[in-house]
Amino acid sequence: MNIPEVPAQLIQKYSRPGPRYTSYPPVPVWTPEFDETRYRSALSELAASPEESLSLYVHLPFCAISCAYCGCNATVTTKPEVVDTYLDRLAREIELVVPLLGKRRFVAQMHWGGGTPNFPTVEQLTRLVRLLEEAFDFLPEAERSIEIDPRIASRRQLRAIRNLGFNRVSLGVQEFDPDVQKAIGRIQPELVTKEVFDACRSLEFESVNLDLVYGLPEQTLPKFSRTIREIIAMQPDRVACFNYAHVPALRANQRKIDASTLPDPGERFDMFCNAIGLFEEAGYDWIGMDHFARRGDELAEAAEGKRLHRNFMGYTVKPAPHLLSFGMSAISEFGGYYAQNDARLGRYQTALDEGHLPIVRGHRLTDDDVLRRDAITNLLCNFELPLTSIERLVRRTRESNVPDEFDRLEPFVEDGLLRFDADRLVVTRTGRFFIRNICMQLDAYLRTGAPLPVFSKTV
Ligand code: SF4
Repeated sequence: MNIPEVPAQLIQKYSRPGPRYTSYPPVPVWTPEFDETRYRSALSELAASPEESLSLYVHLPFCAISCAYCGCNATVTTKPEVVDTYLDRLAREIELVVPLLGKRRFVAQMHWGGGTPNFPTVEQLTRLVRLLEEAFDFLPEAERSIEIDPRIASRRQLRAIRNLGFNRVSLGVQEFDPDVQKAIGRIQPELVTKEVFDACRSLEFESVNLDLVYGLPEQTLPKFSRTIREIIAMQPDRVACFNYAHVPALRANQRKIDASTLPDPGERFDMFCNAIGLFEEAGYDWIGMDHFARRGDELAEAAEGKRLHRNFMGYTVKPAPHLLSFGMSAISEFGGYYAQNDARLGRYQTALDEGHLPIVRGHRLTDDDVLRRDAITNLLCNFELPLTSIERLVRRTRESNVPDEFDRLEPFVEDGLLRFDADRLVVTRTGRFFIRNICMQLDAYLRTGAPLPVFSKTV
């Protein structure tokens, strides 16, 4: 088995807080001055290209139980009727946004995330699909994906989800080990996950994916290794293997976790390296930072052909230039703008009741932002960058009298994480582990000297 080996001193050197770059610039740079008025005007600009299709994201924040490791915008409730109230507001939000888009728009991709998107009843899920289908034209080949919590999924519900047109599902697993499940407050018997997985296969979803997390309390290399072997035996199409971000200063629920039970950076690293070795041996390709796809899967082929894209919904084979999002905390990205809805449920709902779009922050990308965003995305997806892209950044950086990108990247070359070919910068296999650190060298906002927000560790 080809398990990557990374020297301990590199892990120590590069384990530092940094953005995950789901956007550039990252959310803490965005401003509250980007408000509803500016969002409405951005939507009107989008109306100028009516033939371009959209991606949709819908945030469904409700969960039955709070998990101690959770880093999502989630609201715990036992009352299904709160979903009805929320759906009323989603309907209102759609009703306010759609007229600003001009013509009726086509949708090429849709993703429902949470929270727990399968918390609503079948009737509620159906209502939401109908709302969206009334507002948009879904292309026949549109990808429709939804995150599923196997603990509350039933065969009836999964069949309904399939019949509603969803063709991709992601099941939250995290870790099979019972001690780890206890430590994170998420008891999910292995058998339950496997039954739900089998039900998804028998319903012929086009893609059945599993989400794992490493770096959890009580997790060890042998425990995670066993989980990976079980996962491989199930043969999912894709696997996301996220590094747990322990940020109790930001996430009150994480204060329930005893930090002394967390694996240290070296152990976490070993878990991830071992996962890479096991997945690759079993016929999966390592995609982007932390994903795996079966060889032959279109995501694996796009990665191989350097055609991978990434947005707030994750890695994708389709460039989705216009992402329109609905729901509490949802982030939209289109036409050089980012905009985020209020992450407080009460305020999100009140704004809509008062006839306002619940935008609380956003950002208009400058020309410099666009160059850096594209370069960072290219590195995160395809692990290479044309030298001409770096030269463009260097010309801009030199105007500000700080070390330029070539100077900043040189130490990574010396550490064997990067190499310069004739026409491009290439991230080495070892360098992939430190891709966030590499991207940080292109980030103009990290050079301002302003205090850094609380970011998770890069490795
Ligand atoms: S981890 Fe998932 S299921 Fe658990 S509280 Fe967070 S969003 Fe809900």
